[in-house]
Amino acid sequence: MKFAQKLLSTLLMTQCALTFAKGNADTIFYGGPIVTVNAKNEEVQALAVQNGKIVAVGTKDAVTQEWQSSGTKLVDLQGQTLMPGFVEPHVHIMVTAVFEGLGLNLSNFTLPYDTKETLISKMKAHLKNIPQGGWLFGFGVDPSRTTPFMAELTADDLDQVSKEVPIFIVNQSGHIGYVNHKAIELAGITDKTPNPKGGGIYVKDAKGKLTGKLVEPPSYLPFMAKMPNPTEAELFGAIQGTMKKMASTGVTTASDMSVGGNFGVDKEVAIYKAIFAKNASPIRVRGYLFSETLPAGYNAIKPNEGDDKLRFVGIKYITDGSTQGLTAALNQPYTYPKDSKWTGALNYKDADIYASMKSFFDQGWQISSHSNGDKAIDQALNSYAKLLTGNSKPQERRLRIEHFTVNSESQVKKAVKLGVIPSFTIGHVNYWGAAFNNHIIGSERAARIDPAGDFKRLGGKFTLHSDSPVSNVGPLNYVSEEVTRLWQLPPQKVLGPTQAVSVDDAIRAITIDAAYQIFADNIVGSLEVGKQADLVVLEKNPRKTPPAEIRNIKVNGTWIDGKQVSLK
Ligand SMILES: [Zn+2]
Repeated sequence: MKFAQKLLSTLLMTQCALTFAKGNADTIFYGGPIVTVNAKNEEVQALAVQNGKIVAVGTKDAVTQEWQSSGTKLVDLQGQTLMPGFVEPHVHIMVTAVFEGLGLNLSNFTLPYDTKETLISKMKAHLKNIPQGGWLFGFGVDPSRTTPFMAELTADDLDQVSKEVPIFIVNQSGHIGYVNHKAIELAGITDKTPNPKGGGIYVKDAKGKLTGKLVEPPSYLPFMAKMPNPTEAELFGAIQGTMKKMASTGVTTASDMSVGGNFGVDKEVAIYKAIFAKNASPIRVRGYLFSETLPAGYNAIKPNEGDDKLRFVGIKYITDGSTQGLTAALNQPYTYPKDSKWTGALNYKDADIYASMKSFFDQGWQISSHSNGDKAIDQALNSYAKLLTGNSKPQERRLRIEHFTVNSESQVKKAVKLGVIPSFTIGHVNYWGAAFNNHIIGSERAARIDPAGDFKRLGGKFTLHSDSPVSNVGPLNYVSEEVTRLWQLPPQKVLGPTQAVSVDDAIRAITIDAAYQIFADNIVGSLEVGKQADLVVLEKNPRKTPPAEIRNIKVNGTWIDGKQVSLK
């Protein structure tokens, strides 16, 4: 064959191959609105997937003419809506699995609120499930959502459940624990034991006696050390169950914000790697290593280590507690109890947190700071300003502040200038808005919590999350919560209407902007050619649904890499 002929046939073959590939989509979706969340916020008629990636979006005619072959599976949406899979930027997968999958779930997001008596009877009913030598371990009591307000469990209350079985219950916020006297005895804590390092408190009454209340996770450790560990099989099952539950709400990517918080960083990284090696995760995971569990000079995992499915992207700090738990660090005192001088407390000194953050920032890690109160937000922003000194493109580091609950407008301005992206636990408005407004911080500060409106007006990005197990995963619920800003407790009120945003803005906060926040916007977060086909099929189009009803839209299917996720 002559050279020219050879060249021509090679070219023809290449072209054939290209044409063949182009006309051979694995799946084409059509027959309902396809909300792309691209820069122009377009809706299209059809979307084609090949080898797990989106290869075409556009009119039905154009997409089918170019991409349909005999082997293409056609999915008629029959009026349902197709959207990008949701990105949940802040959950605790491992903690949720342990609390909800292995313990007694006492969370109550409905009305009426629990009382001490209903909680004690729920725990008593659970005793029969505790094996010999076991602990009654539970999660989800919430004094800010109990009747009467702030009725808090004591060791004496828990002794009414059992004096023989040790009991350890974690508050809904995750920042407070309650134990009975048997647990105190087994943990070896006495009235004379000094408080642990890292902000933990074994709370004592006026006479110096332990009350059974524990503040901040370091105080849990002596108790957790005495509890029997779950078997590997139990733990895997619980984690998979948690992931499937997330996928059933349309979540296709989630960030675990405290890798290492339960069993230490090495073990939890190994657990995640094992789950993904077995292909046993129905969702993508982005991991943030929990700073408190990292030994000095830690470098076993490198920044961004992993692949498209599992990647470790950041270091997470917890700089204060919980606002509804009255442990967030505030610049002005809480308004509960009346005439209180209590302002909460920072978990770190300024110099210490900056030094720690800098060591990881310089390695290339993204830094995330849990900062609920305005005093903690000041500390995080000041540390970030120092980290970013001399950086002409600070926004490229995408530094994060979690919760950003009690805040001022000047803090929002500073955050936007530094390219800092807050992620709001928007359930604060719904489930705790009444408590914040009526009791805990007063109406003026309560109206400003989760200031999405200000971030939008000042040109910044923000995202929405559940902080599961703090509230339940359900991105469509966050949209309803953010857009209406209604609190749940009757008489319902709109909390800070100027901080509400549009449905489209709230959708970005659970898709493309959340993907951006966790450095995954190059592969997910919108329906655009070249991205992974992570998709969610919704009963209705949220853009055409009254905001308060968006939370009720059914998720009818979740797809990752172009394959429907099995939730069985
Ligand atoms: Zn969290």
